[in-house]
Amino acid sequence: MFFKPLKGLIHTVGFRLTLWYSGMFILSMSLLFGLVYVILFTSLTRQDQETIQAQLRELAAVYKAGGSEALEREVTREKKFERRSSFFVRLADASNRTVLLILPYQWAEFDLKALEEKPLESRLELASRTGEGHLEIASARLAFGYTLQVGKSTEDRERVLRNLRRTFVGALVPFALLSFAGGIFLSRRALRPVRQLTETVRSISGGRMDARVPILRTRDELGDLIILFNSMVEKIEKLVHGMKDSLDNVAHDLRTPMTRMRGVAEMALRSGVDEAGHREALADCIEESDKILRMLDTLMDISEAESGAMTLNLEAINICELIDEVAELYRYVAEDKAVSLKTACPAGPALLADPVRIRQAVGNLIDNAVKYTPSGGRVEVTARSEAGRVLIAVGDTGIGIGPEELPRIWDRLYRSDHSRSQKGLGLGLSLVKAIVEAHNGEVRVSSDRGKGSLFTLSLPEA
Ligand code: ADP
Repeated sequence: MFFKPLKGLIHTVGFRLTLWYSGMFILSMSLLFGLVYVILFTSLTRQDQETIQAQLRELAAVYKAGGSEALEREVTREKKFERRSSFFVRLADASNRTVLLILPYQWAEFDLKALEEKPLESRLELASRTGEGHLEIASARLAFGYTLQVGKSTEDRERVLRNLRRTFVGALVPFALLSFAGGIFLSRRALRPVRQLTETVRSISGGRMDARVPILRTRDELGDLIILFNSMVEKIEKLVHGMKDSLDNVAHDLRTPMTRMRGVAEMALRSGVDEAGHREALADCIEESDKILRMLDTLMDISEAESGAMTLNLEAINICELIDEVAELYRYVAEDKAVSLKTACPAGPALLADPVRIRQAVGNLIDNAVKYTPSGGRVEVTARSEAGRVLIAVGDTGIGIGPEELPRIWDRLYRSDHSRSQKGLGLGLSLVKAIVEAHNGEVRVSSDRGKGSLFTLSLPEA
């Protein structure tokens, strides 16, 4: 029960970061200590050796001037004033027998007799009996085979170094704990945005699409990640809502012809309907099914074009011929409504596109223009090239579109209230947009309610 949260903590990035942090801290501290220790050790050793050498030189001069009596006097005088009393002085004859020995009382642990067995080298070391510290001795040759030895215990030096070692070991544990606590604090602080990100993802997967990660005040990598994440979720939310709306619309728009079809079939099944009545009912059913099929086909075309799955058979197209051909298809309807339909194309700009799809797009625009222009109005289709793009424009003097509707007319199944009297599925413009964008082009519209509209397709020139 207690171990479970602990186990959870151990497997966190924060814990691993903390371990790294503490490890690095302890390592750097040890390296620093090692460096300080080596520097201190070297300089203390050098200082000791220099002091011994200086003392040796001084006493050798005294001996030279006044012999062993003067030497003894000098050392005893120094001892009396407690100056440099820590020095050991030995005068040995040519056969290394001790002639004069002056040593501080606390040096009893050194077996100075052993010196008589050691060769008279310029530098010697004598270990203490207790094993703690040793005696560093420097020698100087005097006249008549005599040798003067001056020594100093390393005890002081070793005490300083021992204290330093103890201080380090004593400080290491609290410092390690401090660095661990600091590491936990810092890593928790640094990883807070990541935790918030995880919580937000959890909320989103739990169905709360409006959840967002709080924006950081700092613009670092995590701050950028959070901004990107929030904008991505924003887009996904819009997409999901769009899809839901589309699905609702499709369901709603399919329901109407299906209900109508069912009603017609039900009526035909009633007794008393003759053969002509049955035929009429069947014809109505076919008409309604055609409508449903058209709607489903167009929806699939839009999805294909939007997802990039639409196969485009690209060909060099003479755009002037294309707009003339398409306009010709609507000539009869336009004349019937007393709407003038004209095309204008100064020169034939070249276009590399799928002629079937471009015909479909231009056809939908002309269809709308004629549909939404009352009698006496005008529809003009033009094509021209401008700055490396082919611009196909369909303008009309029809009912126009209000500014509040303009952003929605490209949505699937959107139909404005003003167009309810006209036939339509609300899919024409969505298909136009999808086809044009599949050709790396773009669509534009400008419109004034009651004055007319101008739809422009801009496609890259071949
Ligand atoms: P619909 O089948 O309703 O024509 P579209 O997708 O082609 O569907 O057009 C969507 C809506 O845009 C229409 O319902 C209409 O309100 C508006 N619209 C499109 N073209 C025109 C136009 N030339 N003049 C006025 N309104 C238009």
